[in-house]
Amino acid sequence: MFTILVTGGAGYIGSHVVKELLRQAYRPLVYDNLQSGHRRAVKDALFIEGDLADQTKLRQTFETYTVDAIMHFAADCQVGESVKEPLKYYKNNVVNSIRLLETAEEFHVKKFVFSSSAAVYGEPSEIPIPEEHPCLPTNPYGETKWIFERVLQSFQYSEKLDYISLRYFNAAGADPEGELGEDHSPETHLIPIALMATLRGDAVPIFGTDYDTPDGTCIRDYIHVVDLAQAHILALKKLEGGRNSGVYNLGNGNGYSVREVIETAKKVTGKNIHSVGSPRRPGDPARLVAGSEKMKEKLGWVPGYPDLETIIETAWRWHRNHPEGYGDAR
Ligand code: UDP
Repeated sequence: MFTILVTGGAGYIGSHVVKELLRQAYRPLVYDNLQSGHRRAVKDALFIEGDLADQTKLRQTFETYTVDAIMHFAADCQVGESVKEPLKYYKNNVVNSIRLLETAEEFHVKKFVFSSSAAVYGEPSEIPIPEEHPCLPTNPYGETKWIFERVLQSFQYSEKLDYISLRYFNAAGADPEGELGEDHSPETHLIPIALMATLRGDAVPIFGTDYDTPDGTCIRDYIHVVDLAQAHILALKKLEGGRNSGVYNLGNGNGYSVREVIETAKKVTGKNIHSVGSPRRPGDPARLVAGSEKMKEKLGWVPGYPDLETIIETAWRWHRNHPEGYGDAR
């Protein structure tokens, strides 16, 4: 059975991928420091509590298990925080990722799927954004993802590693079976904030109402977390099929403004959601919308939940049934 080391497998996206790996008869081995992940999200997969900075534990893990491929999710992922604390992002997202590659090289693990981000593009000059678009990140988070992508690209002509970088747009939604969902603390993402506002009665801050967009608020491309998970399995299979390194966007090609997301959340929940115009969040580009044709054509990706209402419906089911998230200390 194929063993996949999943760093950050207890996190929001990682845990959905782990569930899909189990369903498809892979053996996921989760390596997570539980700083933002949840033990309960891992369910039946093998689990090691460890930090990527802990080289001894990482090496022990590779010594104990024969790892066939790596999926690397463990990272800090908040744009706003990255602007305030850039070094934390360079250490966790770049230095620790290089440590992981070093260990992979030592143990001859040659297949690597990397969790990258639309944040690598910065302010786009073309919408939808193709993979060939220049990468000029506007915040340290995007910069760290771009730097590590460049590290991976350096292996292009080396026998040591084959990689696929997946540039996600805005991951959202939850496991339709209701077992997994989004639980960050603090929560910074728009959809969970809007949904939780209906339960708590808070107002949703709209970060910037003066962007050059039809309603003045930022436009994003929301993609269901299960569609992301499927894409990871396809990427893995592509690497299993030979030397197929590459970079792929993952989004639905539809842009929704912050106001449109809040309106859709009102429709789905049947509840009013108060919002309040707030200053722009530093580092936020006005529009990010994916061109995902490459993923569809080359890897056969077919999103199962492309429309925003369905994405928000699955998220709402999770938040309504788990108002305290996983309800654990971690
Ligand atoms: N946003 C907002 N209010 C919030 C959280 C987010 O207006 O409380 C905006 C944010 O500025 C961005 C969009 O919603 O334009 C999506 O932000 P999110 O943090 O969900 O994802 P990101 O685009 O940063 O990956």
